[in-house]
Amino acid sequence: MAGVGRGPEKPRFGEPCNGCGYCCALQPCAIAQEYLGAEDVGPCPALLFDHQDDRFRCGMVVSPTRFMFLPPDAEADLILGTMFAEMLAVGRGCDSEDFAAPETEEPAHG
Ligand code: SF4
Ligand code: SF4
Repeated sequence: MAGVGRGPEKPRFGEPCNGCGYCCALQPCAIAQEYLGAEDVGPCPALLFDHQDDRFRCGMVVSPTRFMFLPPDAEADLILGTMFAEMLAVGRGCDSEDFAAPETEEPAHG
């Protein structure tokens, strides 16, 4: 199964998301394109690697103010991060088709 060179390998479509980062490395989502001005081709600028858990996380869920260039604000991070997590359907399984793995370099943030 595909992976992006670090972290876990991509699970099959529909299986629980394990933070492999494949989808975000391949193509920034609508949130990244709308709020971060990301291009249609990855990796997403908000793709974070969590060294402690050896997996990727979404920066727009973990620390949206950082990636939106807003002043640090824990309460805003919580509100915005929760909203983005709901929009992304975090925790509802892998919604990325099973194609070949994209080539990636080290994430810009992490
Ligand atoms: S949705 Fe799928 S491809 Fe994207 S990070 Fe989760 S497991 Fe990986
Ligand atoms: S905003 Fe988050 S979910 Fe969307 S592509 Fe970037 S890292 Fe992935």
